[in-house]
Amino acid sequence: MSYIVLARKYRPQTFAEVYAQEHVTDILINAINSNRVNHAYLFNGPRGVGKTSLARILAKSLNCEKGPTTTPCNVCSNCVEITSSTSTDVIEIDGASNNGVDDIRELQEELMYPPAHSNYKIYIIDEVHMLSKSAFNALLKTLEEPPENVVFIFATTEPHKVPPTIISRCQRYDFKRIPVDSIVKRIKELAAEEHVSIDDESIFLIARKADGGLRDALSLMDQVLSYCMNEVTIDKVREIFGLLPNQVFKGLLQNIRNNESQSLIMEIQKVFEQGTELQEFLNNFMDFLRIVLLRQVGISPSEISKDEYPLYDEISAQFSRSELLYIISALMQCKQDIRSSTNPQLILEVVLIKLSRMDEMNEISQIITKLDSIKISGASQPAPVQSRVMADPVSKPVYNKPAEQPVQELPPEPEALEACPEFNEASLKQVWPRLIAKVKKAGTGIVPISLSQAQIIEVKECSFKLQIRGLTYYTPLNKSKELVESILKELFGKAIRLELELMETEAPQTVQIKRKSLDDLKAENPGIQEYLELTKSRLIQS
Ligand SMILES: [Zn+2]
Repeated sequence: MSYIVLARKYRPQTFAEVYAQEHVTDILINAINSNRVNHAYLFNGPRGVGKTSLARILAKSLNCEKGPTTTPCNVCSNCVEITSSTSTDVIEIDGASNNGVDDIRELQEELMYPPAHSNYKIYIIDEVHMLSKSAFNALLKTLEEPPENVVFIFATTEPHKVPPTIISRCQRYDFKRIPVDSIVKRIKELAAEEHVSIDDESIFLIARKADGGLRDALSLMDQVLSYCMNEVTIDKVREIFGLLPNQVFKGLLQNIRNNESQSLIMEIQKVFEQGTELQEFLNNFMDFLRIVLLRQVGISPSEISKDEYPLYDEISAQFSRSELLYIISALMQCKQDIRSSTNPQLILEVVLIKLSRMDEMNEISQIITKLDSIKISGASQPAPVQSRVMADPVSKPVYNKPAEQPVQELPPEPEALEACPEFNEASLKQVWPRLIAKVKKAGTGIVPISLSQAQIIEVKECSFKLQIRGLTYYTPLNKSKELVESILKELFGKAIRLELELMETEAPQTVQIKRKSLDDLKAENPGIQEYLELTKSRLIQS
């Protein structure tokens, strides 16, 4: 069978078939019904939304042998000729290639002759903004004194390039981008007509990619059908458009959530090995996150099918609003940085590793508030538990070593760990920040602080003992023992028993932590400053 491309086959032939431009078609229908046809129209709007189709329908309405009519017959010789662009009375001019003054002069000469077989001589000038200045001047003269029975229909995507003197002599209509749900509806209709089986997700994807243009949607559909024949599936469509499956983004976000830097980087490398462009990856990732964010604020975006909601909801439940904003901002920044970089993949990897450590910056304000409100006094005699960790809870939630040791170095990055390290004192210390981050995520109030206050005093094969100073820290941690043990089991791949030892704090104490100003905190924690800038938030002294 001879295959007619869909965009042509389904080009609208009547006012009723023009999609989502009722604000234009209604007025034109009224004008025709009341016999008030203007001499010049300017159809403005993005590409592929029906401007030239509507120009032809208007031409047919005026020149149909049964016309003027709002329902041209589409079978008389005038209608048929207009549809096939062969009518001598309806002249279509491409403004881009006939933009000189000579072209307009030629047009003016033709205007001397009345229409041959129809009511009107109609000029459809597409991309009219491409005309030269002198061509516009010549055209203006014609518009100032238009001959009888001549109608101009100009179409443009860039009305600001059309001289105001021309625009003021036209009736102007602004065409809208076609909403995704309208495009979806149209694709469903023609899929049924063409006996094509296609899933909703594919339809929505095509509609989104068409970006408001129905013609583009149909061209994309052609592309898809030539590859898939009559069985369209989302996997194939993604393949054709070079898009990554949503599962990839979901996986990456889960790696970020679980602080799994290593798998995150491996996944990313896999993505690029498959030939995905970095910028394109970032764009798609941000599109994905945008939907996650929309779902989180309770919006049902019409750009995706309802079947896809659960996937996005699952992700949105795992992140707080500010975390999502933080991730999006970081990726936006990354996109910018990449432009001027000679090693874009490195930049992306650094950003992703940072994101996978986001927990450490999490709930900063909450921690700071606690920090400020806790008025701890240290012992007058050297306290066995040092408290300096409190000075830097955000970027270094490290475990404490006893006594007056100077500022500790950060332990090795959690991502450097094996999946399940052997349990011993060294590995326990190494996972400590990760343990605290995970406990924090579980929303257990003061427990993370209890853990960073605690001192490891004994490590055995399958258990270890913590010394906790003061009931304030002891009681909540004691209550959350099971949680901590379950996280330890996850981290070490085996059951680890946690024992707590309460250390009373009755000795007279000196103040070891002074109340910090917000500026001090910011200066000590570059991470806070960065977080604040990215999320456009600020600290408030409690
Ligand atoms: Zn007709």
